[in-house]
Amino acid sequence: MVAPTPSSQLFSAFARAPIHFERGEGVRLFTYEGEEYLDFAAGIAVNSLGHSHPHLVDALKGQAEKLWHVSNLYESPQQESLARRLCENSFADRVFFTNSGSESMECAFKTARRYHHENGAPQRTDIITFEGAFHGRTLAAISAGGNEKYLTGFGPRVEGFPQLPFGDHDALKAAINENTAAILVEPVQGEGGIRPIPHQCLRGLRDLCDEHGILLIYDEVQCGVGRTGRFFAHQWVEGAEPDIMAIAKGIGGGFPVGACLATEKASAGMQPGSHGTTYGGNPLAMAVGNAVLDVILEDGFLEEVQEKSSFLRQRLAELADSYPEIIDSVRGDGLMQGLKCKTSNLEVVGAFRTENLLSVPAGDNVVRLMPPLTVSEDDIRDAFTRMDAALSKLNKAG
Ligand SMILES: *Cc1c(COP(=O)(O)O)cnc(C)c1O
Repeated sequence: MVAPTPSSQLFSAFARAPIHFERGEGVRLFTYEGEEYLDFAAGIAVNSLGHSHPHLVDALKGQAEKLWHVSNLYESPQQESLARRLCENSFADRVFFTNSGSESMECAFKTARRYHHENGAPQRTDIITFEGAFHGRTLAAISAGGNEKYLTGFGPRVEGFPQLPFGDHDALKAAINENTAAILVEPVQGEGGIRPIPHQCLRGLRDLCDEHGILLIYDEVQCGVGRTGRFFAHQWVEGAEPDIMAIAKGIGGGFPVGACLATEKASAGMQPGSHGTTYGGNPLAMAVGNAVLDVILEDGFLEEVQEKSSFLRQRLAELADSYPEIIDSVRGDGLMQGLKCKTSNLEVVGAFRTENLLSVPAGDNVVRLMPPLTVSEDDIRDAFTRMDAALSKLNKAG
């Protein structure tokens, strides 16, 4: 098979690497030229079960032969089933299905504002966010993220997303006022550079929200669905459950699925007509989402993720010891690990790619390693050998 000629007719919005993948199997990707890559990017934490997982392929094929789409005009047994499983395994009572992380965030913003609107405090519209946040690329999501790079040139910001320094507790207490609707955090910041929020801080946020009658929103689009070795990242922390949570990425395993989860109370304002989506929760998406949960919620699966996580973490720590000129530190949770670099993170991602290992750059000069949750210890050893070779060459060149 010959690689198609790369098109110049696409928006130039992405700086794409000149690799042309044809197919994938587990943790490996293959180009049209037959070259093999070890995939520790997983489509940016999306391919939670790797590529071509037989159970997902069967689920998608089976559903494709029955029903693709009917819209949200009709009751949906497929959505009810996935929603029931999400709620049974989390704080949530209600679910709204979407097609992406940004849309899940939009639903979270609207749900929070609507809650206060229905509870006699319509002025409560501000959602407090933190530096280094990333919540997607819609106009509201870039306003919430507050990253100038993503805001520049797109006109006025959507109002109501005051942003505070990461970890400044006093600034946070001072910032809450009669216009505050909610506090929004990623329990582990992804794009911002794999920065986990300390457990006591998440509990502190929960207490603060309760004290002021405001809502706690988690963005678990990247860190959720098994990535950290628990079903949701915040479940490592006792007493830090949110009122609203956005998920996407891993729940679809590669099929576009997202969801906004909420408590009965927080979602009560969302009544017929208040929000909508044409595609969200269609039967194809629900079949895949349910199949992903079949695997992730199986007894022992998340425990295995935890074991493999510490194995990966140890290998990364060895690399940090061996290459102190290049690697400053290792940070992250579970299979969401970051190498904080001293040299350019892009150079390190490039060096890994030369060894046919895929990783993802993040903010704060970090390289992200986020293999599929189905990665084996042998795959991790293989990745270690490739990273070692790449860093050794970088060291000599530097
Ligand atoms: C990827 C991501 C989003 C946006 O998801 P899209 O599917 O790209 O819209 C939002 N929040 C976090 C934490 C993410 O990692």
